[in-house]
Amino acid sequence: MTATTDRVPRAPEAPDALPDAAPGPLPAPGEDEPVTRSLRPRRLQDFVGMGVIKDSLAIAITAAQRREEPVDHILFYGPPGLGKTTLAAIVAAEMGVNLRTTSGPAIARPGDLASILTSLQAGDVLFIDECHRLARGVEEVLYPVMEDFALDLMIGKGAGARSVRLAVQPFTLIAATTRYALLSPPLRERFGAVYRVDFYAPEELSAIVQANAAKLSIPISDEGAQTLAERSRGTPRIANRLLRRARDFAQVRADGTISAQVAEEALARIQIDVLGLDDRDRVLLRTLVERFKGGPVGLETLAAAITEEPDTVMDVYEPYLLQLGFLQRTPRGRVAMPAAFEYLNAKVPAALAADPTTRQPNLFGEREGDALAQ
Ligand code: ADP
Repeated sequence: MTATTDRVPRAPEAPDALPDAAPGPLPAPGEDEPVTRSLRPRRLQDFVGMGVIKDSLAIAITAAQRREEPVDHILFYGPPGLGKTTLAAIVAAEMGVNLRTTSGPAIARPGDLASILTSLQAGDVLFIDECHRLARGVEEVLYPVMEDFALDLMIGKGAGARSVRLAVQPFTLIAATTRYALLSPPLRERFGAVYRVDFYAPEELSAIVQANAAKLSIPISDEGAQTLAERSRGTPRIANRLLRRARDFAQVRADGTISAQVAEEALARIQIDVLGLDDRDRVLLRTLVERFKGGPVGLETLAAAITEEPDTVMDVYEPYLLQLGFLQRTPRGRVAMPAAFEYLNAKVPAALAADPTTRQPNLFGEREGDALAQ
């Protein structure tokens, strides 16, 4: 059996030297460009997709309002750019309370946490991004806070050290992580609700693109929105970014309207192909397939070979490649799947082609593989 089929679109040829093809610096993968920040939906009803999570949040919010209590602590996990921060802000807005935003690495010591907690007003939402990076000592202080709103601090050092317990105002902790597997079980267990955010369907992304184009007064056709949506790797943050790129292109090279053709051309210039993969994804795949013969290769080695941080490879590049069924995380390392070889027009190794399990896309990269593959 030859392993080549028409299922998998091929990677584009090496970049054509367009004289003015320079895409310009893109923001870091986890960052929103400034204008995109203002595109965040502010209310639950404006948040596209995630129907089950939205319903559940709506009930939790209404119940909390009736009881005049803060909403239960919530944990969101999943790849970056899918709306975790946005949902935290929406919960605060729907509850009519303040949102305080911080991140795991920013809370270095228990004292840092104490100063944040003591500044909260009753009912406020505290959002901690990257909560898997909280220091162990900080995490331990957080447990009684989450349970009883009691802050236990050690004052002084050595023989004179003593523990004091301070009351903090009841509040809602909303935490987000791209690495559910790295959270300690005692922390996970203290959330009243845990939601996995997942990639969006193209129709949902198309609705987001259209809504944001309207907010930014960018004329766009249905097909133009569809084209951008299909290339956004299931991720609203990327959809917003592509919308801005297409707008620039439409204004400079066309009549200002993003048609399907304008969207196609704009994306071709920044080397984003029909699957939404960009040059960095292709470098990763080529390295895995050509240099490491399809793997298995450890995360650290693969990341070093493409001069990226292992965290960036794991959080930003891999989830979508896993979803496409291009690679798998195994206990022995990353392994390229037949679809990745086909995409790169490379010959699928016979052993891989003969293995039926390699044909199943892994719909979400977390879970089983992760605990082993960290
Ligand atoms: P995360 O916290 O998961 O990394 P964010 O909440 O920062 O993701 O979302 C990234 C960007 O995508 C935000 O600018 C937001 O406007 C947009 N976005 C995310 N989810 C949605 C959605 N469901 N509808 C509309 N825009 C969204």
